[in-house]
Amino acid sequence: MAVPKRRTSKTAKRQRRTHFKLRVPGMVECPNCGEMKLAHRVCKECGTYKGKSVAND
Ligand SMILES: [Zn+2]
Repeated sequence: MAVPKRRTSKTAKRQRRTHFKLRVPGMVECPNCGEMKLAHRVCKECGTYKGKSVAND
């Protein structure tokens, strides 16, 4: 098994982690109205899913 040659410095670790959690997980932009919505779910704003209107009201 590969073993790290040297310990990752605090700075290197922090620099790497600056890219973590910049976005809320599971949230995507609705392709129809552009609002943020939960992934794999009907958009609350415009009531569409995969380009089709599925909301009844
Ligand atoms: Zn939408």
